[in-house]
Amino acid sequence: MTQQHTQKIAYFSMEVGIDPRMATYSGGLGILAGDTLKTAADMSLPYVGVTLLTRKGYFRQSISKKGQQTEAPQVWPVDKQLTKCKPVITLTLEGHAFKVRAWRYDARGLTGHVVPVYYLDTDIAGNPSELRTLSHHLYGGDNRYRLMQEWVLGTGGVKMLRALGYQALSCFHMNEGHAAFLTFELLAEQLKRHKRARAGKSDIDTVKQQCVFTTHTPVPAGHDRFGIKEAKRLLGDHPMWKLTRHFMPDKTQLNMTHLALAFSRYVNGVARKHAEVSRAMFPNHTIDAVTNGIHVPTWIAPPISKLLDTCIAEDWRLENDHLRYALTLPLKDLDRAHQVSKDKLIELINKKSSVKFKKKVFTIGFARRATPYKRANLIFKNIDRLKQIAEKVGAFQLVFAGKAHPKDEGGKALIHAIHEAAEQLGRDIPTVYLPNYDINLAKCLIPGVDIWLNNPEPPMEASGTSGMKAALNGVPNLSILDGWWIEGCVEGLTGWGIGNPDKSSTAADARALYKKLEKVITLYYQDHSAFVTIMRNAMALNGSYFSTQRMLREYCIRAYYGG
Ligand SMILES: *Cc1c(COP(=O)(O)O)cnc(C)c1O
Repeated sequence: MTQQHTQKIAYFSMEVGIDPRMATYSGGLGILAGDTLKTAADMSLPYVGVTLLTRKGYFRQSISKKGQQTEAPQVWPVDKQLTKCKPVITLTLEGHAFKVRAWRYDARGLTGHVVPVYYLDTDIAGNPSELRTLSHHLYGGDNRYRLMQEWVLGTGGVKMLRALGYQALSCFHMNEGHAAFLTFELLAEQLKRHKRARAGKSDIDTVKQQCVFTTHTPVPAGHDRFGIKEAKRLLGDHPMWKLTRHFMPDKTQLNMTHLALAFSRYVNGVARKHAEVSRAMFPNHTIDAVTNGIHVPTWIAPPISKLLDTCIAEDWRLENDHLRYALTLPLKDLDRAHQVSKDKLIELINKKSSVKFKKKVFTIGFARRATPYKRANLIFKNIDRLKQIAEKVGAFQLVFAGKAHPKDEGGKALIHAIHEAAEQLGRDIPTVYLPNYDINLAKCLIPGVDIWLNNPEPPMEASGTSGMKAALNGVPNLSILDGWWIEGCVEGLTGWGIGNPDKSSTAADARALYKKLEKVITLYYQDHSAFVTIMRNAMALNGSYFSTQRMLREYCIRAYYGG
């Protein structure tokens, strides 16, 4: 049998960030998808990935001196990175038939197992020009554009897998609601198999038996919704429209999360707290928790991996749990390895910006999607207090990065506010905002700072993964107790929590942040070996647990093969 005939699990994601040369991701969701696919290859799982090709990417971010973001397309050489597949399938939107093809990427695991990832492409000669653009921009265009893209991903994805020869798939994993139209196609397949025009209870159950859904956002506006009239007009006649009472509590709106929830046998949130919040949002559904992780070989910095190779006998790449033996690393060696990453980051900052960073000064890192609830400017709430800390306990410098969605004015205002604060702080607290946060920049930035700061408004953080990348590299977290950090924080041992999540307010959280920061900087300068011990604990305790390897094992037991 060829591989196609034995693959069991199809993983669908609107974005996949698997290779820095392919601009098919915007942030956390895509990086998680990429890390998941790479890990499935490492674990030799019978896995296949499906996503949309985005030839012009999300966007390339430039920022003016004053802090204004501008966006440009991020075109990349598709035919250099991907292999064109033979099959061409046909889909219909608004009555127009059009062609879809796929491009293949091979995620090769540590022992050689390959997980193929298929990128769906509508930019084919002969297709109507509007439909050709569906494989251009990630999260671009309007609601109509998004609806059409999701139709291509969901129904096109299932049709393409069949055309490629994947007949034995037993599980379709929807990474977020974007892919939920795959349920439409699975229902159509079921009716065709039984030569029925109208679906009954058993047909719904058959679809449900095949689907697994991971929800990612506790922000209600983050769930895709489309007007039902527009959806029916664009997507056309379908047996699913007879079943709307099962997945449309609101008769006027097609909500992709409700669709996915109604047709999945297993649903999960991406951290324990997030699952709890999701259960409150969707009280009629059973929602489990599988906490996110990261692909260790991707996110560990070379100086740290070299050190681990010298000091740990066990293969920590194949068995990420072995990272717990990092507890035996000599503190001096760990400090030195971290300084190598730090020097590299500071050289980059000093090359790119007019602000001058120093290699021996305590460095705070913050990089996330720029959007209001992440509160990137919280640390500037009280500039005088911040200056006092620097005077009292020791110098520090701040590095920021992150893109704002082109339509997120609040996010853009945050970037601007940070630039203003940087101006105001001048040389007292050197502050830079590095433009165009992407995989390559993340690999330099995260391991190169001394502390990883994260201060969203709780409980908005579903999981967060950049803090896991930091911990893996011996960079402790200083974070609001939300998302993964509720599980990862052992106060004063693996890092530090900020504030009280049940009594969160901007003023209270800022005060709590200043208090902790003072404590952490004091420790860094006054009792440095105690600080490095915490760095080591972060690696051993957070790094060994928050991996996509542990995460995928849980999906295997609870979602794919168990339950
Ligand atoms: C890890 C990563 C993210 C996600 O970070 P969060 O902590 O989940 O916000 C986003 N962008 C890039 C480039 C990353 O590497």
